[in-house]
Amino acid sequence: MSRISADSLQEGLRTKRFGRSIFFLHKISSTNDFGKRLAAHGAIEGTVVIAETQTSGRGRLGRKWFSPIGGLWFSVILKPSMGVTKAARLVFVAGLAVAETLNNAYGLRVETRWPNDVLVNGRKVCGILTETNITAEKVNFVVVGVGINANFIPEKALPATLRKTSTSLERELGHKVQLELLFRALLENIDDKYDLLVGKNYSSILEGWKKYAGFLGRQVEVSNETRRFSGLALDVDYEGALVLRLDTGETKRVLVGDISLRTK
Ligand code: ADP
Repeated sequence: MSRISADSLQEGLRTKRFGRSIFFLHKISSTNDFGKRLAAHGAIEGTVVIAETQTSGRGRLGRKWFSPIGGLWFSVILKPSMGVTKAARLVFVAGLAVAETLNNAYGLRVETRWPNDVLVNGRKVCGILTETNITAEKVNFVVVGVGINANFIPEKALPATLRKTSTSLERELGHKVQLELLFRALLENIDDKYDLLVGKNYSSILEGWKKYAGFLGRQVEVSNETRRFSGLALDVDYEGALVLRLDTGETKRVLVGDISLRTK
């Protein structure tokens, strides 16, 4: 089955909190938006929204995330008892869970790219969007959205502008994958990693994530709305900042930006 069968989403799911309640929709604007509405109306932690296609999927900074049928598009509602700074670590929880799951399940050469992408063969196979709802520094809920380009061929299903930078599981593996199995494996892995975070073992998450971070030790360019830096990617520090050694020799921490590898 290359499409999702709603009946079997919960079958055999071994999670502590995730997926006790699952909303499955054929088509939705954005699973994160729906998740935020559910959370605001008191949905329990671990509630999942999954859709076959999103009409207004989003990335960071309101950028469009294309979500054709055949992909795995879902969001999970979390209610961590932690401040905003710690909740920001969830992006590494999700990134590590996705990288590890794709590696274990399909043996793909997976990489994480700061801050929120997962790549295969240098191309984006997954996007992650975490959105936090706060009142005066207190986190009410976080919605973690995960989008995996699974059963479609990017050249056919995504705009031409994304052809060089995107890939899909079907393109990399040469066959379709079972979406329910992938969904279950991902939820179980995110559930485990979230346990580590809640259990104050963030270091193991960050270290795990960095093992997949192929850009570390490479020459990169980082740009954000105001600046552009280039240099050697030295580290991602405890606060999640990218640490660069600029061409001037100065060390620079960057908190927000988009990274690309520098080619000579
Ligand atoms: P980044 O991945 O750089 O952090 P975002 O998380 O904001 O950026 O994701 C949105 C960007 O991802 C879009 O501007 C577009 O370039 C790209 N994109 C959109 N949909 C897809 C997709 N299905 N697969 C791969 N890349 C995509």
